[in-house]
Amino acid sequence: MKLYEKTASELSEMLRSKECSALEIFEDVENRIKSVEDRVGAYITLTPDIAKKRAIEVDESFAKGEKLNVLAGIPIGIKDNISTKGIRTSCASKMLENYVPPFNATVIEKINNAGMVIMGKTNLDEFAMGSSTETSYMHITRNPHDLDRIPGGSSGGSTAAVAAGEAILTLGSDTGGSIRQPAALCGAIGLKPTYGSVSRYGLIAAASSLDQIGPIGRSVKDIAMLQDLISGYDKMDATSKNIEYPNLVDNLTANVKGMKIAVLKEFFGVGVDDSIKESVYKAIKMYEENGAEIKEISLPSTEFAIGAYHIIASAEASSNLARFDGVKYGLRAKEYNDLTDMYEKTRSEGFGDEVKRRIMLGTFVLSSGNYDVYYKKAKNLQKKVSEEFEETFVDFDVIISPTVASTASKIGEDINHPVKMYYNDSCTIAASIAGLPAITLPCGKDGNNLPIGLQLIGNKFSEQTLLNAAYTYENLCGGFNVLSQTL
Ligand code: GLN
Repeated sequence: MKLYEKTASELSEMLRSKECSALEIFEDVENRIKSVEDRVGAYITLTPDIAKKRAIEVDESFAKGEKLNVLAGIPIGIKDNISTKGIRTSCASKMLENYVPPFNATVIEKINNAGMVIMGKTNLDEFAMGSSTETSYMHITRNPHDLDRIPGGSSGGSTAAVAAGEAILTLGSDTGGSIRQPAALCGAIGLKPTYGSVSRYGLIAAASSLDQIGPIGRSVKDIAMLQDLISGYDKMDATSKNIEYPNLVDNLTANVKGMKIAVLKEFFGVGVDDSIKESVYKAIKMYEENGAEIKEISLPSTEFAIGAYHIIASAEASSNLARFDGVKYGLRAKEYNDLTDMYEKTRSEGFGDEVKRRIMLGTFVLSSGNYDVYYKKAKNLQKKVSEEFEETFVDFDVIISPTVASTASKIGEDINHPVKMYYNDSCTIAASIAGLPAITLPCGKDGNNLPIGLQLIGNKFSEQTLLNAAYTYENLCGGFNVLSQTL
């Protein structure tokens, strides 16, 4: 087995038993990138020099007998909307095509301090708006399991990198499903943590009240390791929650005896592929056979979550993206007559269609007269969805559902149908607007050999329970085969 095929926890042990060096791991992943990246397109920017230097430093520290973080020497890819000092951070937009941040996001500080090896910045839908990575200004990313298909989005570069062996772990961001949906379509594991548990400082905002950075990988333990590293209170983020964050890896247990699992009826409805329903029901049966108590529940307001989300997310995006005006960051139109003309030309040239669509929708729902009709109504719906979840978690530990209603579509199939594209997130958005943690796990393949994902949703700050449920399923399956076998 090649080094790039291993999990972070395996490599971490190998480093400690001196079976391999951080430099060898870097070189193996780097070679893998060289052999598949032109077909997959997971990265926007590669940083081999920075990565190599880091790997050598880690080896030197090991040689000196220093005690290093469990993730030291592990290659990671970073979604290109997370600020990296001195490394271009484009948000896959023409607007920020040449933007190099002067500071690191808090998560990047943590990753650097841990000695992780940043391989590069991964592709995404422009400003994290989309479900296929096709709205990227840079290039499209292909699903490593079928190169004619989308990897999902918006963290499609990060999930494709993990499934292609171009990184051992990656970071994504999830506003309405952007970690879970692409992870499901690429057959990877992706955790959207509880809102407030991972600092957003340095994450270029799409919808600030929903955005959350999270880990993507090939084993539940790897996800726990990275979540342990990136979570925690940060005074630089006003929405960061100041509580104790217990170590998830240390408490990881593969046992669901007595765990109460709710099956969310609404997410098994019309529009969900039969092969997906079948695979998820099979997983539910496995949980039941291993001691979990299973009961079907109904959360009627989740049906309206998608509408509420697009109003709230677009409203926030329109406000957040007002800063890209040609003055402070990034692009400025070359020719213009006066200040207003400069604003208009810069924003017309700098943003793609999907971003413009959301800015228009967002300013519309926030304008006087429309505010009560749309925005306020959406916020009320959000409250209703949150309350239904809250009531559910009085009696249940975890909720289970499919992650996505269908497997990966063909490239180009849905990109001109925005509303159809929005329905890619029909099973992920409810947890987002309620601020809940949720994880996707691979749970089989459909008739076209495309990965299927199941979603587990937990109560706020119940990552341990969620990961224990995930770890149990992983053990029952004998591990997951995330890597593409066809590349
Ligand atoms: N696909 C969803 C959207 O386009 C979610 C995006 C995200 O989570 N960043 O809004």
